[in-house]
Amino acid sequence: MITTDHEPEYPAAPASVTLETARREELQSLQEKRLISLFHRAWEKIPFYRDRWEKDGIGRNGIRRLEDLRKLPIISKRDLESDLERHPPFGTFQGDFPAVRVQASSGSAGNPKPFFQTQNDWEVIANLWSRRFYAQGVKKGDILQVVFTYSLFIAGFTATEGAMRLGALVVPAGSGAVTPSERQIRILSEWGTTVLAGTSSYILHLADVAERIGMDPRRDFKVRVVCHTAEPMTEAARRSIEHKWGVEAYDNFGSVETGAPTFECQEKNGYHINEDAYIFEVLDRETLAPLPPGREGVVVVTSLFKQASPVIRYNLEDISSILEEPCPCGRNFKRLAKIKGRTNEMLKIRGVPFYPTAVEAVLEGFPELTTEYRLVLDRVEQQDRVTVQVESRSGISDLLSVVKKLERELKVATGLSMEAQLLSPGELTRSLKVEERVKVKRVWDRRGEKNV
Ligand SMILES: [Zn+2]
Repeated sequence: MITTDHEPEYPAAPASVTLETARREELQSLQEKRLISLFHRAWEKIPFYRDRWEKDGIGRNGIRRLEDLRKLPIISKRDLESDLERHPPFGTFQGDFPAVRVQASSGSAGNPKPFFQTQNDWEVIANLWSRRFYAQGVKKGDILQVVFTYSLFIAGFTATEGAMRLGALVVPAGSGAVTPSERQIRILSEWGTTVLAGTSSYILHLADVAERIGMDPRRDFKVRVVCHTAEPMTEAARRSIEHKWGVEAYDNFGSVETGAPTFECQEKNGYHINEDAYIFEVLDRETLAPLPPGREGVVVVTSLFKQASPVIRYNLEDISSILEEPCPCGRNFKRLAKIKGRTNEMLKIRGVPFYPTAVEAVLEGFPELTTEYRLVLDRVEQQDRVTVQVESRSGISDLLSVVKKLERELKVATGLSMEAQLLSPGELTRSLKVEERVKVKRVWDRRGEKNV
């Protein structure tokens, strides 16, 4: 038995380890039971799903086994958006449960989408965050500084709750917009912070700020672990964080729509899926047919525990694959491979497919530059033109040769000719609003604009 009447269905860590190491058959029977219950809940209480299913000829007992999930239609971001347009302000996908709060997607593409949370939804997501932290070496007694923004974006709050459940002391500093970065650095140093939870962009920025005021992030702080989520953490960003801060840095993949579905363990070999709480599928990008483990496609998720605004076969539009090989950490939760990039984040420049984050690995070889960058796309005489804006550190000479070298290396790494534009220390950081944004917008596509 992996749960009893006396334990919560989704226990916080470390009690959750029993589930994380449960046999596959046990996990699957748990998923089946929870999927059937989710289906019935959604049928009764959530018109958005029921209407869609009825249109597809799915009856009230349409789900009897785990495999029946595949009968349900795929829901797209656009489907939620049009539900919101037809039924403002919250749509019909929230359902009829007593919600206690609403969080919203950051609106990086389109308008922010609201997602209701019942008290139970909130408790579960908090417990799932405690699993993340625990798997990443956070312990009772750690001092954990949350530098995510506290806003409609969910991660700041749920990370806070999860850390408290582990017995860590939370310092809810928030982003640089509410606690200025130099102040964050002072708190880190004087209060003896041991764990930083935030986005990799901001945590890299904090290292730059520390250096600017004459401190050495490796030597002058007690930070041991960095936990990241919200935007893709590239391996280049992970290496930079680990090197600059002298820490272990972990990535977590999640979203406002889902809560806290996955976590990296200390093996850093993909994200373990909390399979008691979510079902992940990887489907062919064109046909949306299920793909076998190891094959790359779009990620589709079902949140089994959610009462308000569950997602049921929701297309996250991220590209990845499912890894079934056992993990040396001993957990039996399957893993999702590192996210390749959102389908809508892949750019086509002069016909060449290109992920903007490829720039990060190149910048790693340039100690003269900060880790900030922005890609500006223009169309000049029917041709796409890419300019990479980068930022120099203070006191660097011979900047021209740095620019030339950067342009050469970008061409080698991406196959695209780009012009590098060097901005002075702090200039790009301010322009990108690194201190205050939930996610930093690194692509400025002006190709559709006139007079450029
Ligand atoms: Zn593992």
